[in-house]
Amino acid sequence: MGLSEIENRISAACKKAGRDRADVQLIAVSKVQPNDRVAAVLDQGHRLFGENRVQEAAGKWPDFRASYPGAQVHLIGPLQSNKARQAMGLFEAIHSVDRPKLAQAISRLAQEEGRCPDLFIQINTGEEPQKAGIMPAQADDFIKDCRDLDLPVRGLMCIPPVEETPSLHFALLAKIAARNGLSGLSMGMSGDFEQAIAFGATHIRVGSAIFGERVPGQG
Ligand SMILES: *Cc1c(COP(=O)(O)O)cnc(C)c1O
Repeated sequence: MGLSEIENRISAACKKAGRDRADVQLIAVSKVQPNDRVAAVLDQGHRLFGENRVQEAAGKWPDFRASYPGAQVHLIGPLQSNKARQAMGLFEAIHSVDRPKLAQAISRLAQEEGRCPDLFIQINTGEEPQKAGIMPAQADDFIKDCRDLDLPVRGLMCIPPVEETPSLHFALLAKIAARNGLSGLSMGMSGDFEQAIAFGATHIRVGSAIFGERVPGQG
């Protein structure tokens, strides 16, 4: 597919939804992709990327950042508390704040270092036991707790259950964000980013539709 076709589809989805293209950020999810594919997208001028593993990002992004000024990387995958310090030095935003212990660790480090990436709270909109994220019923309290910790919470993130209609989950995420005064909505992937845009996504996370399929069993 490729970047330019995705750009066209994003513009069309924004137009249909009556939204400004500038209000939707495309996060090109480069996890597990060969470096030449990532470099090709950087060469086309794209600068915002997503990775789901701290170690993998630490291995490739320092070099890319040196070669491509302005490159930004967001962490979209789970974060262990003991990797929080490293993550805070590697990413402009963390989309996977999903438990009190992690929020507390980030808060301590932010005080210590005097800076903090933008944060998104992951909500388990499908209430799936195996999936990370705050349950919808706990979301308001957790958002408040994060604010009490002085964390820069910009928005919410969700990964809908694969077998369900994503729109219901996008609508729920948007509702929780609105009632908590949060403007950021990290939702929508290769298969459903147009619907996510219709429901107000501000950050869509698109991987395989830009780069091609990932190597099976990874990422
Ligand atoms: C891998 C991943 C994506 C991108 O998935 P595609 O279907 O390849 O677009 C988006 N969000 C998260 C959290 C991911 O782990």
